[in-house]
Amino acid sequence: RRLDDLDVTETTCGYCSVGCRFDVYTDDEEVLGVRPTDADHAPANDGFSTCVKGKFGYDFVDSEDRLEQPLVRDRESGELREAGWEEALERVVDGLSGIHEEHGPDALACFASSKCTNEENYLLQKFARQVLGTKNVDNCARLCHSSTVAALKQTVGYGAMTNRIEDVANADCYLITGSNTTESHPVLATRIKQNVRDGADLFVFDPRRVGIAEHADQYTRVEPGYDVAWINGLTRYVLEHDLHDEEFVAERTTNLEELREKVEPFTPAEVERLCGVAPDELANAAETIATADSCVFGWAMGMTQHSHGTQNVLALANLALVTGHVGKPNAGLSPFRGHNNVQGGGGDMGTLPNSLPGYQPVDDPDVLEVFEDAWGERPPSEPGLTVPEVFEEAHAGAVRGMYVMGENPALSEPDIDHAEAALEELDFLAVQDIFLTETAEHADVVLPAASFAEKDGTFTNTERRVQLVRQALSPPGEARQDWQILQTIANRLGYDWSYASPAEVMDEISDLAPIYGGISHERLEREGGLQWPCRDESDPGTPYLYDEEFNFEDGKARFVPADLGEPGELPDEEYPLTLTTGRVLYHFHTGTLTRRVEGIMSHVGESFVEVHPETAAQLGVADGEDVRLESRRGSIEVTAQVTDRPDRGVVFMPMHFADGAVNELTQETFDPISGIPEFKVSSVRLEAA
Ligand code: SF4
Repeated sequence: RRLDDLDVTETTCGYCSVGCRFDVYTDDEEVLGVRPTDADHAPANDGFSTCVKGKFGYDFVDSEDRLEQPLVRDRESGELREAGWEEALERVVDGLSGIHEEHGPDALACFASSKCTNEENYLLQKFARQVLGTKNVDNCARLCHSSTVAALKQTVGYGAMTNRIEDVANADCYLITGSNTTESHPVLATRIKQNVRDGADLFVFDPRRVGIAEHADQYTRVEPGYDVAWINGLTRYVLEHDLHDEEFVAERTTNLEELREKVEPFTPAEVERLCGVAPDELANAAETIATADSCVFGWAMGMTQHSHGTQNVLALANLALVTGHVGKPNAGLSPFRGHNNVQGGGGDMGTLPNSLPGYQPVDDPDVLEVFEDAWGERPPSEPGLTVPEVFEEAHAGAVRGMYVMGENPALSEPDIDHAEAALEELDFLAVQDIFLTETAEHADVVLPAASFAEKDGTFTNTERRVQLVRQALSPPGEARQDWQILQTIANRLGYDWSYASPAEVMDEISDLAPIYGGISHERLEREGGLQWPCRDESDPGTPYLYDEEFNFEDGKARFVPADLGEPGELPDEEYPLTLTTGRVLYHFHTGTLTRRVEGIMSHVGESFVEVHPETAAQLGVADGEDVRLESRRGSIEVTAQVTDRPDRGVVFMPMHFADGAVNELTQETFDPISGIPEFKVSSVRLEAA
């Protein structure tokens, strides 16, 4: 059949945070194809073709694994069995209210989802704070960019990308680090590569020779876990050689002298000793970046997922500020976020233990009063627990119940045996999801939800752009949209939520979160995406932040010097290799969606470990051979891929698989500021299986 004969719905991709827009073609409740929308409606992909996931990754929507009916754990057999909504909702209400009455509200915790819409995430945090009265609400962005948010809030004011994808596509120079852009943000990488072909300079610093490095003017391999050393080294070089943007630094920043003092020990020789960066490579990068008309600093979880992740991002922010590459077109600080809605669902909507919607502090009495007026109930005024803290407190018996919307911590947490044991300790666990995930397998009640193709709402992409998501299909069987499920439970717990649509929820968001003040579904329909801050109806939104002032009272950015830390675990005789983790092009995060797409599984169908040829030879391991990897946490068997992408002594594994799950091995050291786990450095040993 020709696509043009089918029903068509314009929507936003449900995978990554680039936020490509496309038309979904359906017939008889089945997705038959997608095609990028006109460039006018799709500023992120700007008419570029979508990536392989965007084009072919939708079999999961009508997968036979979809949950079509609620499940409850049978009290006699202990197994999950199908149930009607009435029984399932009753069990949820009894489970949550029983814990609330016996142990108080803070014995409950809610996890929001960066895969769900802004409206659903807003309601999830409202459900936690208003209905359950708990201060414990967090989301999986804790595991990916919480250190970015912590660092950028301190230095420039907002914990978000400062610029547009359009700026990233047109920079004069790039420093990309800790980002496998080609595989994790494919359309963004295409635009960067095109610009590099047209003459832009590209520097890639990374422990692993990732795809984007093949296009770099300079690829520099660095030791995992010592990024502050080379970034502070670049800043020191810039200052020592008077390459900094004197006018920008004098007029728009504070605290230069403390920064100068802090970076002083990072001489080129010391940087080489600490992380293996050659002095000439350091000098070349520093000189090119400092003298470029514009530079984009792009990073992802290779920077953030460390026990000193916040320090890594502080160091990058200092370098961007000292060279004056913030607050102007084609330049800026560009954290490449993960999930489709990680900006909105991961923070903007207040799904954080210390922030209400719009990043308003939970302990600000003026803010609390506004929410009390709107909700008729004052939200808890103390910060709650982060995701890792919730798991610790579950082990300790202080957290007794969890409500998880669309997340899969049983696979995404470090040291998953420990995480699964915490889930088993709970008195009650409810999960709402589209599949029986590894987390849902531990639940007392599983509620069937709708996929992105079966709902209306909005996602906010990595450049702060809020875009509409439109319903193309009905949810299968008895599955319901997440916002409807939350509303039903809230009302059964005695509240009177009466939202008729996600558009009405967005109206409440814009009333309460000033950075979304001018955003409505009606306006998005009319004007396309809007980038926050967008404070009122007449505000066109903010393409790039800080062109006039930074988000502090004095309008100035702060240099916050970064400290060099050590990884929480270092190789030793028993576990001599460094394990690092990441993504591959064909899969997404814990693989909940992509492991159910046949075409994708035929390309990469199982977990593997990359090993450098010299390391493989020393261990007597051949390409394609089954190997056993062991850490202090656990042991798994996977296939070896012998390649020089990782360095000698470093092995790499993807994070998408439940069989051969890398988080059986990863360690539980956390960044003390953001609480992000150190997924990127663990010690392991490897041998033929
Ligand atoms: Fe979807 Fe990201 Fe691919 Fe675009 S680049 S189609 S948003 S997965």
